[in-house]
Amino acid sequence: MIRYIFLLAIGYLVYTLLKGVFRSSPPSPPGGEETPVEDEMVKDPVCDTYIPRSMAITKTRGGVVYYFCSQKCAEEFSRHQT
Ligand SMILES: [Zn+2]
Repeated sequence: MIRYIFLLAIGYLVYTLLKGVFRSSPPSPPGGEETPVEDEMVKDPVCDTYIPRSMAITKTRGGVVYYFCSQKCAEEFSRHQT
Protein backbone atom coordinates (compact mmCIF):
# COMPACT_ATOMS: atom_id res chain seq x y z
CA MET A 1 0.00 0.00 0.00
CA ILE A 2 2.79 2.43 0.91
CA ARG A 3 4.57 1.58 -2.33
CA TYR A 4 1.40 2.42 -4.23
CA ILE A 5 1.25 5.86 -2.62
CA PHE A 6 4.93 6.34 -3.41
CA LEU A 7 4.27 5.55 -7.07
CA LEU A 8 1.40 8.01 -7.07
CA ALA A 9 3.70 10.68 -5.66
CA ILE A 10 6.30 9.97 -8.36
CA GLY A 11 3.60 10.07 -11.00
CA TYR A 12 2.39 13.40 -9.70
CA LEU A 13 5.92 14.76 -9.69
CA VAL A 14 6.49 13.70 -13.30
CA TYR A 15 3.13 15.17 -14.23
CA THR A 16 3.91 18.57 -12.69
CA LEU A 17 7.35 18.53 -14.30
CA LEU A 18 5.84 17.86 -17.72
CA LYS A 19 3.24 20.53 -17.14
CA GLY A 20 6.01 23.01 -16.32
CA VAL A 21 7.84 22.08 -19.54
CA PHE A 22 4.74 22.63 -21.63
CA ARG A 23 4.02 25.91 -19.90
CA SER A 24 7.57 27.21 -20.44
CA SER A 25 7.05 27.22 -24.22
CA PRO A 26 5.04 30.38 -24.86
CA PRO A 27 1.92 29.90 -26.94
CA SER A 28 1.76 32.05 -30.07
CA PRO A 29 -0.70 34.86 -29.46
CA PRO A 30 -3.86 34.79 -31.56
CA GLY A 31 -4.03 37.34 -34.34
CA GLY A 32 -0.25 37.47 -34.77
CA GLU A 33 1.05 40.95 -35.51
CA GLU A 34 -2.37 42.52 -35.87
CA THR A 35 -2.47 45.62 -33.71
CA PRO A 36 -5.85 47.32 -33.54
CA VAL A 37 -5.92 51.09 -33.79
CA GLU A 38 -7.97 52.12 -30.81
CA ASP A 39 -8.80 55.78 -31.23
CA GLU A 40 -9.35 56.06 -34.95
CA MET A 41 -12.49 58.00 -35.72
CA VAL A 42 -15.01 56.26 -37.94
CA LYS A 43 -18.21 57.57 -39.49
CA ASP A 44 -21.63 56.17 -38.84
CA PRO A 45 -23.32 56.10 -42.29
CA VAL A 46 -26.79 56.28 -40.76
CA CYS A 47 -26.61 59.42 -38.60
CA ASP A 48 -23.27 60.83 -39.89
CA THR A 49 -21.71 60.80 -36.44
CA TYR A 50 -18.03 60.20 -35.86
CA ILE A 51 -17.21 57.69 -33.16
CA PRO A 52 -13.98 56.06 -31.93
CA ARG A 53 -13.48 52.71 -33.60
CA SER A 54 -13.12 50.97 -30.24
CA MET A 55 -16.60 52.17 -29.29
CA ALA A 56 -18.30 51.47 -32.60
CA ILE A 57 -20.60 48.61 -33.49
CA THR A 58 -19.30 46.91 -36.63
CA LYS A 59 -21.19 45.24 -39.42
CA THR A 60 -19.62 43.63 -42.47
CA ARG A 61 -21.53 43.76 -45.73
CA GLY A 62 -20.06 42.60 -49.02
CA GLY A 63 -16.54 42.65 -47.60
CA VAL A 64 -16.91 46.26 -46.42
CA VAL A 65 -16.89 47.01 -42.71
CA TYR A 66 -19.36 49.63 -41.52
CA TYR A 67 -19.26 51.33 -38.13
CA PHE A 68 -22.20 52.49 -36.11
CA CYS A 69 -22.59 54.63 -33.01
CA SER A 70 -25.34 52.40 -31.62
CA GLN A 71 -27.16 49.13 -32.13
CA LYS A 72 -30.14 51.17 -33.27
CA CYS A 73 -28.18 52.65 -36.18
CA ALA A 74 -26.81 49.23 -37.11
CA GLU A 75 -30.35 47.88 -37.27
CA GLU A 76 -31.48 50.90 -39.27
CA PHE A 77 -28.67 50.28 -41.73
CA SER A 78 -29.58 46.58 -42.14
CA ARG A 79 -33.20 47.56 -42.73
CA HIS A 80 -32.25 49.99 -45.50
CA GLN A 81 -29.94 47.49 -47.18
CA THR A 82 -32.68 44.96 -47.85
ZN1 LIG B 1 -25.62 56.48 -35.42
